[in-house]
Amino acid sequence: MRKKVIAGNWKMNKTLAEAVQFVEDTKNRIPANDQVEAVVCAPFLFLPALVEKAKGTDLHIAAQNMHFEASGAFTGEVSPGMLKDAGVTYVVLGHSERRAYFAETDETVNKKTHAAFNVGLTPIVCVGETLEQRENNETMDHVEAQVKRAIAGLSDEQVKQVIIAYEPIWAIGTGKTATSEQANEVCTHIRKVVKANVSEAVADSVRIQYGGSVKPANVKELLLRSDIDGALVGGASLEADSFLQLVEAGV
Ligand code: PEP
Repeated sequence: MRKKVIAGNWKMNKTLAEAVQFVEDTKNRIPANDQVEAVVCAPFLFLPALVEKAKGTDLHIAAQNMHFEASGAFTGEVSPGMLKDAGVTYVVLGHSERRAYFAETDETVNKKTHAAFNVGLTPIVCVGETLEQRENNETMDHVEAQVKRAIAGLSDEQVKQVIIAYEPIWAIGTGKTATSEQANEVCTHIRKVVKANVSEAVADSVRIQYGGSVKPANVKELLLRSDIDGALVGGASLEADSFLQLVEAGV
């Protein structure tokens, strides 16, 4: 059985005080079991305080990005080692907002995925098509290419540990959720891509999330689908009660 992953992506929201309060309000209410894990993806500046606050609980703290180099002249960037040192355990890579606004490419996502494993971080790699690509029936080819490029050069064991987040760009922050059928169709395809490029055993184990306007009202239906192993959630992860409802839906 694949353990579901519910990850809240706060993006560039909250004050430090609000972030710490969120962890205080949720950390002891995360179900401790083998069915679901809960992750909060927070802005860099909050990470050490949140890791400290969540210590010893089942709430995991993630970063929303990082550089792929270990150190050097990269003003304004944060390295994988810095995240590891701060006690972070997961990192979101290649979110569509980073691809659209910060020139993230499949190549940098691949470098970052390798860099994450080099320091022992679990990467949550985002893929997904634009509305135009969906309307032109390019979804499967586009997502397939993104997945192949993201995992290129990883060992089988590493691919098994990658969390792939299928996030159709037209569904992010728009209130337009993909139907559970549409979401599952692409997640099934992603699993086939992993099977064809790595192995059946790895494809059976790799976890694939759906993301795009997930909320407590629609999460259960999505999670019931055969190839959806969790959700990456923006807006509906900002409030503690809403986040907890999403996590509980994974049980
Ligand atoms: C996201 O930030 O990855 C996301 C899916 O956002 P939202 O849930 O707000 O659509």
